[in-house]
Amino acid sequence: MNSPYIAYIFIAFLIFFVLITIMLFAMVIYLIKGMHQSKKESKNENNDEMKELISTVRTGFEKASEVNKGHFCKLHPGVKASGTCAVCEEMFCEDCMMELEFLNLCPEHFRLVNENEWSAIETVKTDSENPEASMYVHDFKKKYWKDKMTPMYIITHYQINVENDHIISQVELFGKRDEQFFIGSELKKYKDSLSI
Ligand SMILES: [Zn+2]
Ligand SMILES: [Zn+2]
Repeated sequence: MNSPYIAYIFIAFLIFFVLITIMLFAMVIYLIKGMHQSKKESKNENNDEMKELISTVRTGFEKASEVNKGHFCKLHPGVKASGTCAVCEEMFCEDCMMELEFLNLCPEHFRLVNENEWSAIETVKTDSENPEASMYVHDFKKKYWKDKMTPMYIITHYQINVENDHIISQVELFGKRDEQFFIGSELKKYKDSLSI
């Protein structure tokens, strides 16, 4: 064999080897790039999920604060309500809310309750076995305030029976003394319509 042939073969091998090395490098670089890309993509996906979660949480908060927006004093917009008037069932702030025996009342209905005689029109006893028994009294009161502006209030007394651990409540509906017969007959009609 001639020595120049050997040299050619050697050069050919060298070129082949270099090409293979370059291809391998290229493959490795391509693979590494690919891995980076997919990592970035999954990060973006995570970000999207996170954004969605944050916006869900935010909507929840906004909804909650919207509900709170309704809990302001009827007479002082922007002042947080601290209680509900027993007659009109509107919400009022601490400065407006007045107490009269068992009742929380707005200024207008404090005067009304204070300046009139009131009579118990209906008394219902409920216990843990029959907790819904007094619902009709609350519904009647609400309805007649809404429809006819008939002022009434409800006083509930709770009594705990220690022996059998029962909570008994006594729900009493009061109306103005001079309206008691009218309210009584309206309540009877209402009960008949519900067949109680
Ligand atoms: Zn009121
Ligand atoms: Zn107020």
